[in-house]
Amino acid sequence: MGRITIAIDGYSSTGKSTVAKQLADYLGYVYVDSGAMYRAVTLYAMQQGIISKAHFDTSKLIASLPEIHLKFYKEPSWNKAHIFLNGKDVEDKIRNLEVSEFVSPVATIHEVRAKLVAQQKQMGLEKGVVMDGRDIGTVVFPKAELKIFMNASAEERAQRRYKELLERGEQIKFSEVLKNIQARDHIDTTRDDSPLVKAADAIDIDNSEMNLEDQFHTVLQLAKDRIAGRV
Ligand code: C5P
Repeated sequence: MGRITIAIDGYSSTGKSTVAKQLADYLGYVYVDSGAMYRAVTLYAMQQGIISKAHFDTSKLIASLPEIHLKFYKEPSWNKAHIFLNGKDVEDKIRNLEVSEFVSPVATIHEVRAKLVAQQKQMGLEKGVVMDGRDIGTVVFPKAELKIFMNASAEERAQRRYKELLERGEQIKFSEVLKNIQARDHIDTTRDDSPLVKAADAIDIDNSEMNLEDQFHTVLQLAKDRIAGRV
């Protein structure tokens, strides 16, 4: 078997992107962070005053969708591809807690999902792709040769995310991070359109007790088996 498609789904901050990126680098595949696309649409909505703590004008966001152009681009010196929103590199702006608070409501909108899913399917046409998100194995690539579903306890995930945000210099409380993770879990699993759910043929990995190296080797072995057509 030649190149395959790998779908990695799971709850927020389970380390999906770390393992997806490692796998793509090792296999020489393209890594696509689908969450970055939902985050970039959210940033657009914030910049245009479409979403704030006080209101969310969903019709205006839907009407603005044709004006939102997303692209991934990687300079050879960068560690990963950055996401560009209407020609601007917004990779650094989409990871803060404010975007994290608004992104799950934005991701419930059917028209937003339809637009992003269509673009994601395009990116997978030639296989050789590792994509992470919430609906990759169920909706974007239902025929992916390898599907992984990652999980870890909410406390463990919040600890990791909290550390990451502190390292980036954000002033936040642990309780806020935990609250955000729990809120996103709730919205992501209960929305009508493509809720976060494990695909029937996905392999469960709980990494609460695993270090990054063990996790990478577990997933890499699964990928090698699929590529060789062993399982
Ligand atoms: O992966 P990340 O945590 O950056 O994703 C941010 C949010 O985007 C998720 O909480 C979810 O609401 C949404 N998302 C989604 N479908 C995807 C990827 C992300 O709904 N495939």
